[in-house]
Amino acid sequence: METRQLGGSGLTVSIVGLGCNNFGGMKQSLDNAGATAVVHAALDAGITLFDTADSYGTAGGSESLLGQALGARRRDIVLATKFASPMNREVSTRFNGGRRYIFKAVEDSLRRLNTDYIDLYQYHFPDPLTPIDETLGALDDLVRSGKVRHIACSNLPGWQLVDAAWTARHHGYERFLSTQAEYSLLARSAERELFPALRASHMTLLPYFPLASGLLTGKYRKGGDVPADSRMAIGRFAQQMTEARIERVEALIAFAAARGRSVLELAMSWLAGKPIVSSIIAGATRPEQVRANVAATGWTLSADDLAELDRLTLGGS
Ligand code: NAP
Repeated sequence: METRQLGGSGLTVSIVGLGCNNFGGMKQSLDNAGATAVVHAALDAGITLFDTADSYGTAGGSESLLGQALGARRRDIVLATKFASPMNREVSTRFNGGRRYIFKAVEDSLRRLNTDYIDLYQYHFPDPLTPIDETLGALDDLVRSGKVRHIACSNLPGWQLVDAAWTARHHGYERFLSTQAEYSLLARSAERELFPALRASHMTLLPYFPLASGLLTGKYRKGGDVPADSRMAIGRFAQQMTEARIERVEALIAFAAARGRSVLELAMSWLAGKPIVSSIIAGATRPEQVRANVAATGWTLSADDLAELDRLTLGGS
């Protein structure tokens, strides 16, 4: 498995990671046995980056299941989690990057993950109230205490990334190494404003929804049935399956087939071909999906292929 640096740091991660937002929740999410099977398949396939958040699952369910499934193997991998997103929206809807909040959140995550350090602690969503100096200062203290090894962010617009990078440099604080943003062949808007900001800040990307929640795996076809056990059978995801997206998926399936490849190989290899991407944190509900995703990054697309893909996928994303 290829490994890449995160944000030009000494931290390296496998080019395919495992996203764990489908562990320990309610509808169609993985239970203990399901999460353990997926995590063990990922470990066996050489995946070293595991991405979760305190807000994934019910009452921190994703962190708890991931911690249990990893067991002693936790020391072999890069464990990434997130804070700031409300864990129970009936109690609070605030995104919180305050010092007091962070110090409690990290203790709760460490307990659920059954570990004494987090490799990558990510600021999940920007808090409009808290100055970035306060958030970075609190995170810097966590790194100095040894509870956190590196810090990163997620869902920050370009201007906030650059502001955070300058604030960290000004104070001598730890800097964000990476951000998470939606990025795939069906969602390329990050290229416009976020990518220049990442480059200027020496940061890299962990693209989320890299498979567009499964649309880029080839299992959803125009006019075909939606598999009952798939994500698109769940109401809140079904709206991602618009007619325009399905048309685009059909064009990508045809593009890949004309070159003897699958659309999954296309989706994963296209992302892996971007130097700004450190790890593709695809989610999975079954061990065979993990293995397929890991095997799908080996296609080096030609310049002509990339130009044709731009023609097929730019505009309206
Ligand atoms: P995704 O990776 O685009 O899609 C994952 C889903 O696609 C799987 O759960 C599975 O669902 C299906 N799938 C995956 N591989 C497949 C294969 N080989 N064949 C057929 N189906 C396959 O979306 P995601 O998991 O939501 O996003 C990835 C990760 O990014 C998350 O787990 C999370 O860690 C992170 N994330 C972060 C944010 C943020 O705000 N920072 C937001 C969203 C996600 P079914 O089997 O149920 O169809």
